[in-house]
Amino acid sequence: MSTQWIQVYSAANNLEAHSLKGMLESVCIAVRLTGESLGSAVGELPANAVEVGLWVEPECIAQVGRLLQDYEQAEYRDWICTQCNETNEGQFEICWQCGCEKP
Ligand SMILES: [Zn+2]
Repeated sequence: MSTQWIQVYSAANNLEAHSLKGMLESVCIAVRLTGESLGSAVGELPANAVEVGLWVEPECIAQVGRLLQDYEQAEYRDWICTQCNETNEGQFEICWQCGCEKP
């Protein structure tokens, strides 16, 4: 390995790791995952049994940092209900006004 990769994130499980990997790859950033191989045999381990490291090349680090920041904030950002246009706080999964799900 000629390039020294840097770990930028530790995902709680394979699912999160792969969704982040997909997000970064969609903007042409090469991503490596570590830790997931332990759970590679399907059904052998629960998906959340191991933390998965996300690694990128050093030249991408600034861009990746911004993307990850957006990712983490997105979960807590206020959202507007598509049904009734009510503003809801980010931690709520359902509109308090009409019960519609977070888009
Ligand atoms: Zn609503």
